[in-house]
Amino acid sequence: MFEKLLKELKQLDNTKISIPIDTDENGFFDRECPDEECMFVFKVHEEDWEKNFKDESVFCPMCGNESTSDTFCTTEQVDNAHKQATEFIEGKIHKAMKDDAKSFNSRQPKGGFISMSMSVKGHTPQKLIIPIPSQEIFEQKIKCEKCESRYSVIGSAFFCPCCGHNSVEQTFNNTINKIESSINNIPTIKKTLNELSKDQAENTCQTLIEKCLLDSVVAFQRYCDIMYSKHKNAKLKVPFNAFQKLDIGGELWQELFNESYQNWLSDTEYKRLNILFQRRHLLQHTEGIVDEKYIAKSSDNKYKLGQRIVVKEKDAIELVNYIKTLTTQIRNKIE
Ligand SMILES: [Zn+2]
Ligand SMILES: [Zn+2]
Repeated sequence: MFEKLLKELKQLDNTKISIPIDTDENGFFDRECPDEECMFVFKVHEEDWEKNFKDESVFCPMCGNESTSDTFCTTEQVDNAHKQATEFIEGKIHKAMKDDAKSFNSRQPKGGFISMSMSVKGHTPQKLIIPIPSQEIFEQKIKCEKCESRYSVIGSAFFCPCCGHNSVEQTFNNTINKIESSINNIPTIKKTLNELSKDQAENTCQTLIEKCLLDSVVAFQRYCDIMYSKHKNAKLKVPFNAFQKLDIGGELWQELFNESYQNWLSDTEYKRLNILFQRRHLLQHTEGIVDEKYIAKSSDNKYKLGQRIVVKEKDAIELVNYIKTLTTQIRNKIE
């Protein structure tokens, strides 16, 4: 009586339903970090995924988590695939049952006392498998400097998903972009918070600006550390946090290139850079209160001992610009 259904069930037992994933207009398709704490969504170029990526290891561009390639489906893709596969199977079973009912009914003798008929209720049309659509294009496209795989992210990325390479340039640019966008967003943040509390708005924005100063110096320090170590004549051991101090760091570059910060910036710019570096030092170590060391090292005559320094948006922008000039010089000379 249920020949078709039994046959269909037997066939389904060995069926693999494969559901294709679509790429966006630029040929990228979605991936997601399998680490539950991260779940960072990114895109990889389809050609590179097939050509360069290894089944045994793919990396999350955000957290660096390494896992097998089959674990990088996005939550959306898994849900979509599950739904389509279920509907596909339901459709097949439903059709088989309808066919069984039809052949059962056709075999019933006509005109007897008892008439039997079987009907399968509901309407489950046979489903076609539709490729899972891709999210809209991400603006930031990156090509790994090591393996040349192309990937795309929103916000920041630190690791190549294909080879796991952590690019010093990439990391540095991410941080600088973040700092710049924080500074640019301060007027909006202030305006929004002002509606809640003027004190809160002022404090939050001040903290943010000061953080930009701290972050810029850390980014510069890390960038210089790595770039310096790439040079064949670099010393094997340099003082801890050498590049947070302009005199010590500057001396290290001078030894390698026979020129340094003072050649790359004007006198006035270098003096301002030094003041901003020293102010960063105060924020880090004295909560911004001017001490004797600051006065001696910065030659900043705007403050007296015991005052607290004031950092404005324009100072943060100025520091970022100096840092960009210096790192451009370093990059060109190391290459
Ligand atoms: Zn991750
Ligand atoms: Zn790579």
